[in-house]
Amino acid sequence: MHPGSPGTRSAAAGSFAGRLLAWWDVHGRKNLPWQRERTPYRVWVAEIMLQQTQVSTVVPYFERFIARFPDVESLARAGLDEVLHLWSGLGYYARARNLHRAARLVVLDHGGSLPADVADIRRLPGVGRSTAAAIAAQSHGRRAAILDANVKRVLARRHRVAGAASSAATRDALWRLAESHTPAERVADYTQAIMDLGATVCRRTRPRCPDCPVRAGCQAHAAGDPERYPEPAPRRKRRLERSRFFVVVDPDGACLVEQRPPDGIWGGLWSPPERAAGESVSGFLEQAGIAGRLVGEVRKAGVFRHGFTHFDLDVEPVYVRLRARPAAVRKDVGRWIDPGDHRLGLSTVAARLVGVTALFDAPKSGA
Ligand code: SF4
Repeated sequence: MHPGSPGTRSAAAGSFAGRLLAWWDVHGRKNLPWQRERTPYRVWVAEIMLQQTQVSTVVPYFERFIARFPDVESLARAGLDEVLHLWSGLGYYARARNLHRAARLVVLDHGGSLPADVADIRRLPGVGRSTAAAIAAQSHGRRAAILDANVKRVLARRHRVAGAASSAATRDALWRLAESHTPAERVADYTQAIMDLGATVCRRTRPRCPDCPVRAGCQAHAAGDPERYPEPAPRRKRRLERSRFFVVVDPDGACLVEQRPPDGIWGGLWSPPERAAGESVSGFLEQAGIAGRLVGEVRKAGVFRHGFTHFDLDVEPVYVRLRARPAAVRKDVGRWIDPGDHRLGLSTVAARLVGVTALFDAPKSGA
């Protein structure tokens, strides 16, 4: 192998990696909860949570999750509802479903130890090329290049890589650069260092170039146009959807929720029943098997908008207070939960809807 080819690149003082590591030794983040006790399981959970989510948001979720599921066995044994409950509010719930499925596979197929090989890690549900590399590098010290959003930004600017980062050609070019810069030594620190540089110095807007350890070779800095890179993906028109949510509350303040299908938006989470916009109260009650005579009061609340990655959802809440809880509701409609006293996963929208059932100032039982 010639110097600089994969596996031989060192973190020599003047190299990209060397300068980055020297900077990280002084300025890098070293006290994140998953760094304090860097086990493969903790690194894995952190890397999944960090996909599409900022460090500051992840930290409290990570700490709660690890307190409840300290190892892969406890996660594998848990029910999906509890896993989703601890994920509630973090978004992108397919990550939690995949993490749970993967934990069971690790226990069944790998004796409870996360594999060390990048290709084996990548076979786990929800783990892509960059995440597998980050886990292998940080927990096993394997030389493996990562390319998350922060790294894409740093490399696209430093090398003035044209084209949207989402295009295959640009992504391939960035992967080649990521591979070429990843050192054979201190790879765990390097992985953290380049992520830190992107998050704290080479920021999306107003990059702090004067403080940057790799500015000497940075083409975008030299050209004075770092914010042009990476080029944004062509804008897709956002679609707007609208749904009606029936927030049915019994005399004790318990709320009727149904489980969403396992895949898709909010897959596996629980929510007040969602129906087509404009669905009538009587139509919903009939479909749910709730007799109209049980209804005490109906209130429509203001519509609010919730944004997803590619579309917006206008939420029409309809609050229905019952005089008595029906003996049963149709099986496909769901179950009752006491607000704040449940162990189910709720989306942010569901939590907001359930949380305002106090609108009725529901009396306690016996009243
Ligand atoms: S010099 Fe500026 S644009 Fe270049 S990598 Fe550093 S912070 Fe980013």
